[in-house]
Amino acid sequence: MNEKRIILIEVKHMDGELHYDDSSHQLLQVKDGCKKAYPDPLLQVKRQAHQLEKWIKTHSLPYIPIEPFVVFTHPSAILSSSHLRVFPSDYLPFQLNTIADGSGDAVWTNNEQRSIMNLCYQNHTPYVYDVLQKFQLKAEDLMKGVLCERCISLPMEKVYGGWKCPRCESFSNNAHVKALNDYYLLFGDSISNAELREFLRLPSRNTVRKLMNDLKITPIGTKRNAKWDLKSKFTQ
Ligand SMILES: [Zn+2]
Repeated sequence: MNEKRIILIEVKHMDGELHYDDSSHQLLQVKDGCKKAYPDPLLQVKRQAHQLEKWIKTHSLPYIPIEPFVVFTHPSAILSSSHLRVFPSDYLPFQLNTIADGSGDAVWTNNEQRSIMNLCYQNHTPYVYDVLQKFQLKAEDLMKGVLCERCISLPMEKVYGGWKCPRCESFSNNAHVKALNDYYLLFGDSISNAELREFLRLPSRNTVRKLMNDLKITPIGTKRNAKWDLKSKFTQ
């Protein structure tokens, strides 16, 4: 965004052969010998541009041109596109420069730009969806255990006062916090002792209980069926 215009970019990370034809309003993907058609991404971003235009109007800001683009980011995608607004990400800087150098009057003051930015932050709501369902995965497909942030391998082993990576030998006193956050994002609000033992690959009930106590995460429910409320600790 600048004083003259807003640039709206729809990013597609798809691989294979991609054919975009704006006369048929379809995106065709050929991958592993299969052909698949997707809805027109340019129409999608144009629709979003229209919605953004309306949203700006409701906040009593002057009209500003919105330029929609579709950018393909996958490095091994082979793209053929019939439209100037649909191109691979390498071309984006050139396109942005051309637009920045282009004509057009300044329509927004610095104050107006700042206020739209603040409005965007205030009105932002994270998109919450079921990750497993979206990627057609089952819980068993996930690799369990606490991840070593240094060498990106798992599981780390529980040692006194923290976690030790058997591969690179690095130590962490809070690597399980990241794992719990992952669990929260993948499976939801609450977790039982048995689920925790499985996810963190810990054999002992007591170790699990101690970890959760130390994190001050509140248990809910009765003793046997108690679960910990992850929502009190993590946010989406
Ligand atoms: Zn490691």
